[in-house]
Amino acid sequence: MNADTTGPHVVVAGGGITGLAAAHRLALAGHRVTLLEAGPRLGGKLLAGEIAGAPVDLGAESLLARRPEAVALARAVGLGDRLQAPATTTASVWSRGELVPMPKGHVMGVPGDAHAVEGLLSEEGVRRIALDGEQPPTEIGEDIAIGAYVADRMGHEVVDRLVEPLLGGVYAGDAYRISMRAAVPALFEAARKHPTLTAAVRAVQQAGAAVPADAAGAATGLGGSVFLGVDGGVGTLPAAVADAIRAAGGEILTDAPVTALRRTGPTGWQVVSGDRVLAADAVVVATPAGPAAALLAAHAPAAAAELDAVAYASMALVTLAFRRSDMPALAGSGFLVPPVDGHTIKASTFSSQKWRWVTDGAPDLFVLRTSVGRHGEEDQVHREDADLVAASLKDLAAATGLTARPVATTVTRWLGGLPQYPVGHLARVARVREAVAALPGLRIAGAAYDGVGVPACIASAHRAADEIIATSKRADPGAGHSR
Ligand SMILES: Cc1cc2nc3c(=O)[nH]c(=O)nc-3n(C[C@H](O)[C@H](O)[C@H](O)COP(=O)(O)OP(=O)(O)OC[C@H]3O[C@@H](n4cnc5c(N)ncnc54)[C@H](O)[C@@H]3O)c2cc1C
Repeated sequence: MNADTTGPHVVVAGGGITGLAAAHRLALAGHRVTLLEAGPRLGGKLLAGEIAGAPVDLGAESLLARRPEAVALARAVGLGDRLQAPATTTASVWSRGELVPMPKGHVMGVPGDAHAVEGLLSEEGVRRIALDGEQPPTEIGEDIAIGAYVADRMGHEVVDRLVEPLLGGVYAGDAYRISMRAAVPALFEAARKHPTLTAAVRAVQQAGAAVPADAAGAATGLGGSVFLGVDGGVGTLPAAVADAIRAAGGEILTDAPVTALRRTGPTGWQVVSGDRVLAADAVVVATPAGPAAALLAAHAPAAAAELDAVAYASMALVTLAFRRSDMPALAGSGFLVPPVDGHTIKASTFSSQKWRWVTDGAPDLFVLRTSVGRHGEEDQVHREDADLVAASLKDLAAATGLTARPVATTVTRWLGGLPQYPVGHLARVARVREAVAALPGLRIAGAAYDGVGVPACIASAHRAADEIIATSKRADPGAGHSR
């Protein structure tokens, strides 16, 4: 351990990107950090792997670059040169048996102009959108399910064929239950101010257009891309962050589940992991909601009960490698699948077409992946590997005409992959945070709170770390020092 890490000792529970980002921030601020990860590897839902010798992401694969956090962290740990814009971002929707280009000019599937969705929606569906302008404003209150609200304003078809598949990609959830306030906050705020949903969408679009090309794109020549990948995989980010933590004097242990937290005195903690008991001045709990609930139960029972109630969706990713010479021409980066059409897969990403680094790693192969499983579809995820591969190939053949046999397949199951944000989620999170704030030195962070995307997770990690740093500075103005 570095000799100059003499600041307060902070233990971080959880070695996903949230825990790593928190530990990184704390270590750089001069705190002595120990990160305990329950499993044998770091990264949580970020996982780099390979198929037929080709490097691929087997978990999260792209970073929203409109927000600064993920791109900034990648740069801070030396991956700036490896950030890569997608080679193509044009996607389709597999709707009523046809691959239809994804309409332009929408906010999470909600169009600002009914004409934009012609070709994807039926004529009746397109006409129904226009009724938005003729209805009195819809009462939104403190929160509303995005599907219910959009269906009320513009009809069910736009929800079923656009909003639902897009949200399904992010949350693996049900648009008719997902909180608009939590999932699409800009649209929620605009919808509260404007009399129609169309006007709200346009306001969000105008605000977006007014934002200069994002700093990430501007600074790297990445063209202001909304999303960025990492050469070698977003799954290489955790190891790079871990290296930076160790270089700053932090310690990282795997196969070290935190099993209990005990208070010692007015501000101190003991962190129990098997036979190990670590004394800590502060603790960041960066696990999913279930384990966080177990750790908090003795100290903040109401918050623990709230966390225990956070539901998670499980999903499976089926990664398939084909001989490139066997492939038909496929358009764009992939396609989304509206659940109303009753297919097994909910999306497919043509990785070799979307990411240059995947093609460069295996020029003779064509790698793509499908995803299966939404919230409430656990059975799908637990089907045999061969079954999931066969179902994926069947849907791919129907959607794209692809009949080639893959040369390699990999099924990655993400049980408890994505927390669900139902109506009222943010109020729940506020109650949990309030209860946890009463526990000195304890902070929570992760995908269950302020957003499931990697940048949002990092933001919650930084918030937790910064609060601890601020408290320790107040307690001992000489403690901690920036590097
Ligand atoms: C298949 C899939 C694809 C995704 N794609 C994208 C994408 O392309 N872009 C994007 O931005 N987001 C994506 N997401 C979402 C994003 O990857 C996750 O929300 C995010 O990585 C969660 O990070 P986390 O650290 O909060 O949680 P996790 O990754 O779940 O990490 C939590 C860690 O805590 C550990 N842990 C649990 N209990 C304990 C304990 N008691 N003690 C110690 N450790 C414990 C776990 O083992 C785990 O390693 C995707 C998610 C999934 C599932």
